[in-house]
Amino acid sequence: MAILAHYKLTIQIHAYQRYKTMSGRYAPSPSGPLHLGNLRTALIAWLQARLAPMPFILRMEDLDLPRVKSGSSEQIIADLHWLGLDWDEGPDVCGPAAPYNQSARTSYYQQAFDQLLDKGVIYPCYCSRKDIQQAASAPHSHEHGPIYPGTCRDPQVRAEMEQRHPDKAAAWRYRVPARTITFEDQVVGSVSQTLNREVGDFVIKRADALFAYQLAVVVDDGMMGITDVVRGADLLDSTARQIELFEALGYPVPNFWHVPLMVDEAGARLSKRDGADSLELWRQQGKSAEAVIGHLAFTIGLIDEAQSLSAHELLQGLTLDGLRRSLIAATPP
Ligand code: GLU
Repeated sequence: MAILAHYKLTIQIHAYQRYKTMSGRYAPSPSGPLHLGNLRTALIAWLQARLAPMPFILRMEDLDLPRVKSGSSEQIIADLHWLGLDWDEGPDVCGPAAPYNQSARTSYYQQAFDQLLDKGVIYPCYCSRKDIQQAASAPHSHEHGPIYPGTCRDPQVRAEMEQRHPDKAAAWRYRVPARTITFEDQVVGSVSQTLNREVGDFVIKRADALFAYQLAVVVDDGMMGITDVVRGADLLDSTARQIELFEALGYPVPNFWHVPLMVDEAGARLSKRDGADSLELWRQQGKSAEAVIGHLAFTIGLIDEAQSLSAHELLQGLTLDGLRRSLIAATPP
């Protein structure tokens, strides 16, 4: 009997350790109320963590203070709860990796910044937007504008730029190596990006002294032990540089799940600004949380017909592999 009890306890401890060594998260930016597309990503991240199973963390990405809307964090938390989602750690629950608001984590970003400075992989940049656009050698551009031509990499050129813009505070850039990063996204499949050609030296601290999203997200996911990053496919383009940062800072690289973005009837991406797909509008029309969950699940192929069901009912009918297959099927080619 005693042996059996010991055996059972050992299994439980192992299951618990496995559970604790994995973590998922949803990381909204409180720049306004979440629209249905954001909520669908939140639902998928929650389903992924609950099916794995692994702890689920809510992290408020309120670092870009000029874009933060007052009351938006509270509204996001209330909306996610209204939908029937829950989390094990977050701004309103606390936990071992607190704080869960990026605005309260700048000392960690500063430590990571110092670590990169010691490694000699970052440098100050005095170029204005116009300088970068005008640089004849800027050969490519990507979603986020032209690729930085590396002007301030050279200390002598940098000194000239500093003289040219005496009132300009420096931004800090990460010196990308000539390296192709290839990773296997759980939804999108194999993705490759050559950092020096397709990304360029990217900003990790802005001229207004705010740490950039790229640095903050890696420090947070690393420190919070996130093993599975579920987020919108619009961030696929950021992933290779984040993998480079995870490695430079000595954190394990998580699995990525880039999930399709929700589009409106005309095929356009939803935006927080137009408000047409806000939860508020659905609620004003008297729709229940179950109706919203059913709609979101149907649009991503998790259920065959639009019906009302709770997040927990949806969870019970799914497997992790089934979730993954539906996401793959819903991903445009
Ligand atoms: N805060 C970002 C957003 O709301 C998501 C960042 C991430 O998941 O890595 O778009």
